[in-house]
Amino acid sequence: MTIGILGGGQLGYMLALAGYPLDFHFRFLDPSPQAPVGRIAPRVSAEYTDLEALEKFAHGLALVTYEFENVPVAAARFLQKIVPVYPPPRALETAQDRRSEKGLFQKVGIPATEFAVVDSANDLEQAIRKLGLPSVLKTCRLGYDGKGQWALRTREDVQRVKKEIPAVPLVLEKFVNFSRELSILAVRARSGETAFYPLVENHHRGGILRLSLAPAPRIASALQREAEDAARRVLEELDYVGVLAMELFECDGRLLANEIAPRVHNSGHWSIEGAVTSQFENHLRAVAGLPLGDTRTLGNCAMLNLIGELPEPGELLAIPDVHLHVYGKPVRPGRKVGHVTLRADSTGQLEQRLRQLPSFFHREEFCLSQRLAHSAKYL
Ligand code: AMP
Repeated sequence: MTIGILGGGQLGYMLALAGYPLDFHFRFLDPSPQAPVGRIAPRVSAEYTDLEALEKFAHGLALVTYEFENVPVAAARFLQKIVPVYPPPRALETAQDRRSEKGLFQKVGIPATEFAVVDSANDLEQAIRKLGLPSVLKTCRLGYDGKGQWALRTREDVQRVKKEIPAVPLVLEKFVNFSRELSILAVRARSGETAFYPLVENHHRGGILRLSLAPAPRIASALQREAEDAARRVLEELDYVGVLAMELFECDGRLLANEIAPRVHNSGHWSIEGAVTSQFENHLRAVAGLPLGDTRTLGNCAMLNLIGELPEPGELLAIPDVHLHVYGKPVRPGRKVGHVTLRADSTGQLEQRLRQLPSFFHREEFCLSQRLAHSAKYL
């Protein structure tokens, strides 16, 4: 069976690596001739809007999935006429626009961040009167890794942003004073069977994920159930097939939905070594119509993103149960070029392994020192 994947970045790369043992073959489509999957699978370099290229790409494929959430919905719908496409293009469409995403949360009754629609500088004033400051202004489309966002703390911020406000649909969100950021990865099979990974604790810097702890420390079973219930409602409403990530804020012991990603997710990379079945394998099982794999964890994991630079591997790999993943992308500032997962049999052992990491990882940007300072309390 050959599976077509739209997008040829690291998520596609890891999907293929998980799929080869199951005897799947892959073909990728990505506009960039440098997309890293070129190292391991046939790759078509074409724009997502090139219908002729899409048709040729689809020839002989059993199904198409995607690893990039900004694939134009029109491309997914066009392919759907030729070959099954999972997750359904409606999920892609909903997740691509913050307004429809928030509409979905409202429809299925999931608590989410308070917001107001902003189409003009005038709307912005009205929205601020409704929500107050601080708040966060976000473009509805094409935002990722903190791009397309403005934190509004003071009136001066508002005046400055008004001058540079782009002529695109926006939303203003009330600033959430969360105690931490969590995410849940959920998977739904073609048969409707669902499975969930444990909540993960995420640390961002500059809008980019730096560190994930899986399972998130100190999660009451009621909170895990609340997250699973929210994710299940989304999966069912969208008649979803595949892995879906839901980003959440923990606030006064409750969860607020921030956003969904209709694909495998950076906060699930730990599952390659840390779960019985990884998010990548489970996504492929789901879209291929196979039974889902066990999502139970194998101990405690920490995942650290490698952004714009790679560590010296020798010193790192001398630590037991440390796993290095390099994506084969040109190393450039601000780019996710790999990740490291540490696995351990207990939180205490994980802490010990985190402390053993080379000095490369003890710099501010890895968010580790701050986390370890709390470790007596959390880990
Ligand atoms: P997003 O693109 O919506 O995931 O936002 C990127 C990051 O900005 C989040 O992971 C949070 O750290 C922060 N953020 C986004 N929205 C809010 C909000 N309403 N209140 C506080 N922080 C936020």
